[in-house]
Amino acid sequence: MAEELSNLYEELCITEEEKQEVLIPTEEALISIEKSKKCLAAHVVADKEVNRGALRTTMSKVWKVEGQVSFKELGCNKFLVEFQNPLEKNRVLSERPWSFDRYLICLFNCEDCLAPRDIFFNEEPFWVQLHDLPFAGMNRTMGERLGAAAGNVVLVDVDSSGMAWGSFLRVKLILDISKPLTSGRFINLGGKRYWIPFKYERLPLICFHCGAIKHAGLSCPSGNQREGVAPQYGSWLRANSQHRSFQHFSKKRGGIRTLKQLAPK
Ligand SMILES: [Zn+2]
Repeated sequence: MAEELSNLYEELCITEEEKQEVLIPTEEALISIEKSKKCLAAHVVADKEVNRGALRTTMSKVWKVEGQVSFKELGCNKFLVEFQNPLEKNRVLSERPWSFDRYLICLFNCEDCLAPRDIFFNEEPFWVQLHDLPFAGMNRTMGERLGAAAGNVVLVDVDSSGMAWGSFLRVKLILDISKPLTSGRFINLGGKRYWIPFKYERLPLICFHCGAIKHAGLSCPSGNQREGVAPQYGSWLRANSQHRSFQHFSKKRGGIRTLKQLAPK
């Protein structure tokens, strides 16, 4: 919509007067860039309009923010969130994903963002647990390979030797929220085939018909709502919130490797 409006001028006969630019002083632009460092854009992915006051009160508590947080409306269920301190904003970003009333709050970092048209709500990071792996596959390389099948790999939760022996391997992935969640992958190890189920930590409401988060609760555009067809997505995709983590241990020893979106989607 914003793009349509911005491009509309191309078809208009602009008058000489309208061609005159309104000059914005550099200092003003710098002030807005400075302000953007304290701001996030947030989109509550819900099929009903959420109450801004309830959202602000709840999320200020959940985020454990010390100073004030302001929520300004950008559109239906879309808000500009301003923190007093950029460090608090960055902490909230690093501890994603968040949800309100079980609906995902998709966040966008507004740093250096100059206009609402530069804001997109397409992806969100999630910790994903890879279950039933043979011990030989509980390592960083396997996390990178399997994680890349579902999203962009950011971190693999392993110890300083690159291993993570336990009941599952954790991988932090950036997921495209408009696409179906990956429910698992087969691996072939030494000629033996294993099904590796993926479970998502802090998973919000999803569409049980197509497995996407983006239209949770809204009518599904996939056409998968046929009668007699069992839902392909369900609560089995949710991970138990109780999990062990190598993250703290690894941080001290530099064991977590940051891949910074090296893997293909
Ligand atoms: Zn759907």
